[in-house]
Amino acid sequence: MCEKQSDLKTNPSHFENPKKTTDTPTHMDLKWDEYKDKIQGFKFFDPHIHMVSRTTDDYQNMAQAGIVAVIEPAFWVGQPRTGLSSFKDYYSSLVGWERFRSSQFGIKHYCTMGLNSREANNERLAEEVMEILPLYVYKEGVVGIGEIGFDDQTELEEKYYRLQLELAKEAKLPVQIHTPHRDKKRGTERSMSIAIEHGLDPSWVIVDHNNEETVKSVLDQGFYAAFTIYPFTKMGNKRMVSIVEQYGAERIMINSSADWGISDPLAIPKTAALMVSRGIPNDVIRKVTYENAIEAFAKSGQIQVSDFELSIPSDPNEKFHGNSVLRGGQLPKWNQNSLYID
Ligand SMILES: [Zn+2]
Repeated sequence: MCEKQSDLKTNPSHFENPKKTTDTPTHMDLKWDEYKDKIQGFKFFDPHIHMVSRTTDDYQNMAQAGIVAVIEPAFWVGQPRTGLSSFKDYYSSLVGWERFRSSQFGIKHYCTMGLNSREANNERLAEEVMEILPLYVYKEGVVGIGEIGFDDQTELEEKYYRLQLELAKEAKLPVQIHTPHRDKKRGTERSMSIAIEHGLDPSWVIVDHNNEETVKSVLDQGFYAAFTIYPFTKMGNKRMVSIVEQYGAERIMINSSADWGISDPLAIPKTAALMVSRGIPNDVIRKVTYENAIEAFAKSGQIQVSDFELSIPSDPNEKFHGNSVLRGGQLPKWNQNSLYID
């Protein structure tokens, strides 16, 4: 159910009065307009977002909300791939076209490379993918092996998870672990114990999609705990505020995991605004929405903070393989609120 505009107007102190809130997901657009001033001047780093599934509007809104850099993990694209060429083109786009497209909107783009758990169950294809993965993991902008781990927790998922942990060690790259939606606690514990078994340093491993059930064990064992603010299925940002209040900021990071599903590329700025309104100190917010992700993934040697801290404007004349995002000399920004499309 959506809240009506009139309800919002009569309840402007929505965030200050948690008793009046419910766990029913509501559209955030109108409230976001009221609260976005609270994060003016903040910089955000989204360490998990699937931009190939997002639009140019998303890029523009993200840049405007303070997102200066993103990490795009290699993942399943919804449609199961039937051949190696689809994997090759996808991996190439993560280090090629998408990276370029992002730069045109003023956002620094990194990625992690890997065979996702879902498609690890196609053994014939998985074998072929494992052969070509080393060709991609050393490319510029690749900050980790990911997202890998368990989905249905099958034997094949485990096999390719283990092989990719070895690849991460060899390439000296951090690991980004996708934890399953079903039987999450067991899947998370299993992912961590296998990583330790393979000799990975937990401080090089980012365990993703945590919740209240998994966070303590992940932090206690020295791993990074990432949280996905994703409507309906994962974490809501009200719950996220409580987690930060309870556990502090050390080794915790927030991401949107925005993809082709119902998700929100502004999950980080919105959560930051909510945190400001709930009285979380700015240095804590900065850690969980910016610094910790950089600290974890910079171990790859691929992240130069100056590349995105200085807000260098994009060059609209730049091209990638002869292609520009600006068709026929367009300007990179236009007034989306205008009825006219000139
Ligand atoms: Zn993902």
